[in-house]
This record gives sequence, structure tokens and C-alpha cells, in this order.
Amino acid sequence: MKRRQFIQVGSGVAGAAALGGLSTDWFKLYGNSLPDPETDGDRVVPSFCELCFWKCGILAHVRNGRVTKIKGNPKDPLSRGHLCPRGAGGTGLLYDPDRLKQPMVRVNRRGSDEFEAVSWDAALNEVAENFERIKGLYGPSALALFSHGYGGNWMKHLFKAYGSANIAAPSYAQCRGPREVGFDLTFGSGVGSPEVTDMANSRCVVLIGGHLGENMHNTQVQDFAQAIRNNADVIVVDPRFSVAASKAKYWLPIKPGTDTALLLAWMNVIIGERLYDREYLDRYAYGLEQLEEHVKAYSPEWAYPRTGLDPELIRRTARIMAAARPATLVHPGRRVTWYGNDTQRSRAIAILNALLGSWGRKGGFFVPSQVELPPYPYPGYEKSDATVPDRPDPSDYPLGDQVLAQGICDATIPGVREASAIRAWMVYGSNLPTTLPDPAKTYRAIEELDFLVTVDVLPAEIVGWSDVVLPEATYLERCDELLTPSYKQPYIAVRQEVVPPMYDSKPGWWIARALGNKLGLTDFFPWENSMEYARERLHQANYDCDALQRDGVILGRTQPLYFEEGAPPDFYTDSGKIELYSPRLASHGFDPMPTYHEDEVDDPPAGYYRLLFGRAPTHTFGRTTNNRLLSEVYSENAVWVNKAVAAKWGLVDGDRVYLQNQDGVRSSFSAPIKATERIRPDAVFVVHGYGRKPKKMRFAHGKGIDDNELITRYKTDPIMGGTGMNVNFVTFLRAEDVVEEVAS
Ligand code: SF4
Repeated sequence: MKRRQFIQVGSGVAGAAALGGLSTDWFKLYGNSLPDPETDGDRVVPSFCELCFWKCGILAHVRNGRVTKIKGNPKDPLSRGHLCPRGAGGTGLLYDPDRLKQPMVRVNRRGSDEFEAVSWDAALNEVAENFERIKGLYGPSALALFSHGYGGNWMKHLFKAYGSANIAAPSYAQCRGPREVGFDLTFGSGVGSPEVTDMANSRCVVLIGGHLGENMHNTQVQDFAQAIRNNADVIVVDPRFSVAASKAKYWLPIKPGTDTALLLAWMNVIIGERLYDREYLDRYAYGLEQLEEHVKAYSPEWAYPRTGLDPELIRRTARIMAAARPATLVHPGRRVTWYGNDTQRSRAIAILNALLGSWGRKGGFFVPSQVELPPYPYPGYEKSDATVPDRPDPSDYPLGDQVLAQGICDATIPGVREASAIRAWMVYGSNLPTTLPDPAKTYRAIEELDFLVTVDVLPAEIVGWSDVVLPEATYLERCDELLTPSYKQPYIAVRQEVVPPMYDSKPGWWIARALGNKLGLTDFFPWENSMEYARERLHQANYDCDALQRDGVILGRTQPLYFEEGAPPDFYTDSGKIELYSPRLASHGFDPMPTYHEDEVDDPPAGYYRLLFGRAPTHTFGRTTNNRLLSEVYSENAVWVNKAVAAKWGLVDGDRVYLQNQDGVRSSFSAPIKATERIRPDAVFVVHGYGRKPKKMRFAHGKGIDDNELITRYKTDPIMGGTGMNVNFVTFLRAEDVVEEVAS
């Protein structure tokens, strides 16, 4: 693909199709950016998307009661009138024939996936009775909520009102948490979501294991395309020649696990050659002298045998970054839970940005702002005295500021913690067996539960193990909490019902309210429906709810974005400065500056390869693999293997293999080999979210390999408790041999 084609991403989704190697026919079918056909007679409802968690503004077209197409809302600051390939395929979820259609209670052993359909009243009575029984025996903290997705806000409100603070989101310890903590330790604030990256104005973009173009967070991809259009220098560090790498001036095929060594070598060059922003650091930073001393040992020659990267390439790329400063963005990444040292690696990225003076500067990181909306005037939540039992000792992972999902799982198993503190789970939109590492442990915890209720749209793995299943309406059939993101352009967005809920599904707000009423929490649900709730909040701040419903967004006043424009350089660290040296880390016994520890990351055993996983442009992991529209173009994953390695194994493109990991765990299904020079010989790569087990997900069932079942090991980040999951190794089993073995 030519560079110019890729640039089209910013102005039309056909370019996004080219970006991911997709057929543009797909877009003809589901028309996103093609010339607008007749819309006369369509009812057009603004809302925001939830095919992933980016929350792009949409315009949903309805004809004869059916949603016919979904387009980007031009007024929305995130979509800017364009959607990623997934966003246009929302009807594939709405009209998925495999959707959960009515409330159900389990009739056989857990995991048998056998249920009886019941009324909503009966299902909610079952939930309320179990919650009350468990609360009566063990207190409200014996109940835990796992939540992923914007609709989860209603359930969080329910849990807080009921007195449990055990609310975990896998998006923290399994995804972005180390990045937020690393940046917070350095600048006094994290990068948030949407990230505060000013990539559209960058003159140099550095991606370290970031897969923009496969990871399709819409605005990020638009901004990346804009940077390319502006001829920004792109440097990609990745063991795999990703889509982003194919757009880069420099691809650094780093040895997995050695990124901190590279980051330190870059600092060594930038500091050693005095290429940093001295004036910025003098004004805003603390610890430059210590850092100068610290990185002296980390020359590019020192990094070479560790990273496998030519010292001259390290020097050249460091100079390119420095030449473009402060409009250089060393991107903080998104899922950064790799090796268990992830907070320190994220801190190294933050420090490198600080040396380049990019925080608070055009082309680096902008200063976000947010529309202030007063909360709904509920009675206050009662404060719980119970400690969250998500870590062995409350002083473990001292800088983790959110509940650890894997810790809640551990606290459910007797003996893993002193007592099994957790007795019941509510799981909202989180398919835990494919999300938490070590799925055998997740299943063990589920077996130990007194009660498990799931709120979901599709019959995912977790549903088959539940006692009660509550079918939620999709994002196109429900209203949710108002959205007021912290971003470049402050704004309010509304998710509203495009079409009424199908089958006997209900919106999350309805489920939380009905359950709250059964649990005696009527004071916390005084509104009749979510629009009444939204109207009250908007009314308090003098915003016009009708205008919001009509346009989908209300824009706030733009604030200065950069320090030079008058944005306040507030650093909420202990010193009030950018902390290159962190006294806080030192006080907890951690390295105050990122350090490379030789023994931190293991090499693969002979005959094994490091298992890396990521995304495809048309999918949000397992949440979309059953979506027939999206899966038409990518229905199963492939195992990326270096060509020379494949030849050594006698494998060619398309040969089907099972993967087996270092602990002898074999994938449940097979996938075809993709033999390519685009990956290092010591690693393999698969797209996450395939190899689905539930037979009720008829489209996705059995297609491809589930990487998560091979993640039997993880390394916990000692600073904040994130689970580094790129520490597993796999080998190949030919599919025909496995079949023979099973048959014999
Ligand atoms: Fe939807 Fe794509 Fe935006 Fe995600 S990035 S919210 S899937 S349009």
C-alpha cells in the first residue's frame, strides 16, 4: 500500500479499510463514508458507539423500525463525522441472532450452559435474595462487581449504594493501569482515555509496541494519518512489522522485553549530546542531575546486545526525536501489561517525553479540559470500613489506585487469601475467562462462588457459568450515563435509544433500578428512566437536554491547550514538578528512576516462541468476533510465524496448527499459519479474541486460537499490580497430528 492511501484514513473509512488490508467491498455493503444515499424518510438518531470503548459520536439511520446504517456524527469531537470499520458494523450486534433474549436461571451444574427462561421479576428476585443472603452472612463487601463498558456505570452506582467497594475493571490491571501510574508519577496526571496526545500536530511520532491502524481507536488513527500527511517522522519499535511499522521511516525490530534498555539508551544519547529542552527542564523538572548520572551507563553500545538494535540506529533515531522537539510524541501506548515491569517502562517513556519538552506542548501532549456537570443529587453512599481484599496485604502494590480484577478473583478462592472474602460476583460486559490471565484460576474461583449473575448481550463464556443471566439491550437500544470526557474540546454527549430493545432485553439503567428497588435502595433510584436522570443533571447546569438529544453533543468552551497558550503547567506530583527522579518510588523501595534489570525477562526455551497478541482493525477482541458483518472480512485469526522458523518446522502458509505453551496447555482449536518475514524469529503473534468456546455463539465458535487460554503465567507489577502477560511461550502442533492423537 502506498503512503498516500493510508493518509485517507483521516478523511474516509475506505482508507481505513486499506490500512488493515481489508476489502473496500465491505464498506460498499455497510456504507460509512460513501456518498450519502437517499435518506428521505429515515429517522436519524444521534448517540455514541460502543463497538469499542472509544465512544465516537454516531448518527443511526432508522427506516421502518430497523437501523439501516450508522455514520459518524460530524459534530462529535471524537468521530468528527467518521467511524472506524467496526463502528459502521453496529447493526451486526443489534441483529445478531445469537443474542441473549430473555432472563435465565441455571438448571444444571455451573458451566453446563443449561438454563431455563424466566420472567424479569423471577430473575431479579433470585438475584436480590442471593445478594441479601450473602450480605446478611458476610457483609456487603462479600459482593464484587466486574465491569467493562459505559453501561456499567449504573451497576457501579448500585454496588456503591449497596455498600460494596469491590468494583473492578480489567481495563486497569490487565490493560492501561501501568501507563497511568507511570505518567502520574512523572507528571502528576495520567494520559486518560481518550489520550491527551496531540499527534495530529506531531513532527515526530514514536510508537513502542503500539499498533495504530490495527488498534483502530478512531481519533487516534485520524490523528496519526494527519501526522503522516504532514510528513512527520514515524519511528516504530516492535518485534513485528505492524501496519504502523509499514508507515514508518524507521522500524526497530526489538528483542521482546528489552524496551526499557532502548529507552535508557535514547536518554543516554539525548542527555549526553545535550539535545534535551534545557529551559523547559530548568523550569518544570526535578531530578535532572540524578538522571544525567543514572543514564551514563546506558550507551547505545550497551543496549545493542540486549535489544538487538544497531547502536547507530539508536543514535540516529534519538537525534530525529530531539530535532522535532517539542512536537515529538513518544506515544504512551494503550495495553501496556507486558512483562510485569510495566510501570517503570511507562515511566521511562514519560521521562523521555519530559526531556523532549513535549508535555503540555503542541505536537506532544495537550492540556485537556472537561465540561463540569454536577452529579445527580443522590443521598451520599455509605462509606464501607472493609478493606478491598484484592491484594495479599494492603501494603502490596502501594501505588495501585484501583481495584485489581485478578485480586478479586484470588480473594474468591479459599486459601489463596487468608479467607475467601468474596462470595458473589456480578459480571457486567466482562468475559473474564478470556480477559484475566490464568483462566484455570478464573474457573476455579467461579466454582467457589455462592452466586454469580451476569449482565451481557451475547452468550459469552462467562454466561455459561452463571447462576442468573440478565440480557442487556445493546447500545443502540438504550440510554446511558451522560458522557463528559476530558479532552481537547470539552463536550457533553448522550447515548440514547435508537430503536426499542429487542426480545426481552432491558437497558442497564432499568436492570440496576429494578434490582435497587428490590434491595431497598429506592432513594438511589428516584428517577423513572435514564433520560429523566440526564435531564435533571443537565438542568442543574443550565444545559438544554432537547438540544443535546437533537445534536448528540453540546460543545463546551475550548480552553488553552498548551503551556505557551496559557494552559496552566500544573504538576500534581509531591514536588509540584515533573519528577525525573521520583522520591515517592524511592520511599516505597522502588527504583526512583527506570533501571534495566538483566534477569527481568526470560528468553524462550528451545523450540518455543514468545506469544504476543494484539488486534485486528475490524474487531474489539472477543466482543465482536460473533458479529457477522465484521467477521465477514476476518473470521479467524492466523498464527504469525517467521518464515525461517516455519521452514524449520516444515510449515507453510495456511497449514493449521494448535499452539501449546510451556506448561503443556494446548489451544482448544487450531488456526492457519501465516509465514512471514514481518516478525522476529523468537516470537509468534495472534489477534486476541478468537477460539471462542460457547456453542451458542454460533458464528465465532471454534474459529481460531484463544491466546488467553495459553496465558497460564503472568508477572505482577510490584508497583501497581498490573499483570504482565507477554511472558508465555508456545510451540506448534500440527492440526492433523492432534486429530490423530485425539482419535487414537
Ligand atoms: Fe466505535 Fe470505532 Fe469509535 Fe470504537 S473507534 S467507538 S468501534 S467508531
